[in-house]
Amino acid sequence: MSGLMIAALKYSSLGWPVLPTFSISRSDGEFHCDCHLGKDCPSAGKHPRLIKGVKGATVEESKIRNWWNIWPQANVAVATGDIVCLDVDPRNGGDASLRRLFQKVPTIRTRSHVVASGTGVHLYFKKPDVKWRPSHLLSEQKGIDVRAKGHYCIAAPSLHISGRRYQVVKDRSSDLQPLPRSLWIPAQSKKSRTSDAPMEFNDALLLKILNVELTRSERRIKTAVRGDRNNRLNLECFLWGGRSSHHQLDIKNLVQHRLSAAAKKAGLSKSEIELTFNSGWTAGHSHPTNLAGLPNGNKSL
Ligand SMILES: [Zn+2]
Repeated sequence: MSGLMIAALKYSSLGWPVLPTFSISRSDGEFHCDCHLGKDCPSAGKHPRLIKGVKGATVEESKIRNWWNIWPQANVAVATGDIVCLDVDPRNGGDASLRRLFQKVPTIRTRSHVVASGTGVHLYFKKPDVKWRPSHLLSEQKGIDVRAKGHYCIAAPSLHISGRRYQVVKDRSSDLQPLPRSLWIPAQSKKSRTSDAPMEFNDALLLKILNVELTRSERRIKTAVRGDRNNRLNLECFLWGGRSSHHQLDIKNLVQHRLSAAAKKAGLSKSEIELTFNSGWTAGHSHPTNLAGLPNGNKSL
């Protein structure tokens, strides 16, 4: 039995639903995803092996054994929802944000289950008992993504693209503590939301942010050099798939329309654009990405 299967079974015994994702291989001294995109995969070792994605996550032992018998090296992902994971990415300023949070809310440091990822750190907590959303204090932190319902995080001892394994640094798994109170607020229905809510969903603002970011994506596609145009389109679609998933925004048609037009101007063929959009979007959707300034929510545009 591989260490990965043992870990997956351990998590499931704690009631944490797990799913297998692709892993990391090494060839010519370089690490890359073991999916068919290899070195071009924008979500190396992090995207689900299951067609249903995170919805296929389970605590059923027989299923888990079966998966890791088929893919012994598959990375282990834990579906969040009952668990909340704060994903700290130092490349985006997450380290400084976390230090600030530690100072303001010391229990974040003392009560979390801590996993070192390849470059950053994951802090696990139990979800609040009521419907909730991140407080302003948490959502304003750059470089810290909140993984909750509908998302997942890669767990120890999965292999990271850096060649390092995810590693439990402080084990509170059997006694997971609730998310500190100052990091969340009760979710209110739209009707009863008061005007002093820290994050008001505002259609005009949302559209403005989306428009600015889409224009940037269009520019990057249009100015991509020949030979890199398809790759650039794929990356942008991946990014937007992840944003749509993270913020639960129904923006696929809008994004497809805008990015396809840009790709057409860049000289890509219609069939090529459609294929690339669908593969990039689908891969991105299973890799939620935060877009600074956007609140979470369900929106159709
Ligand atoms: Zn991949």
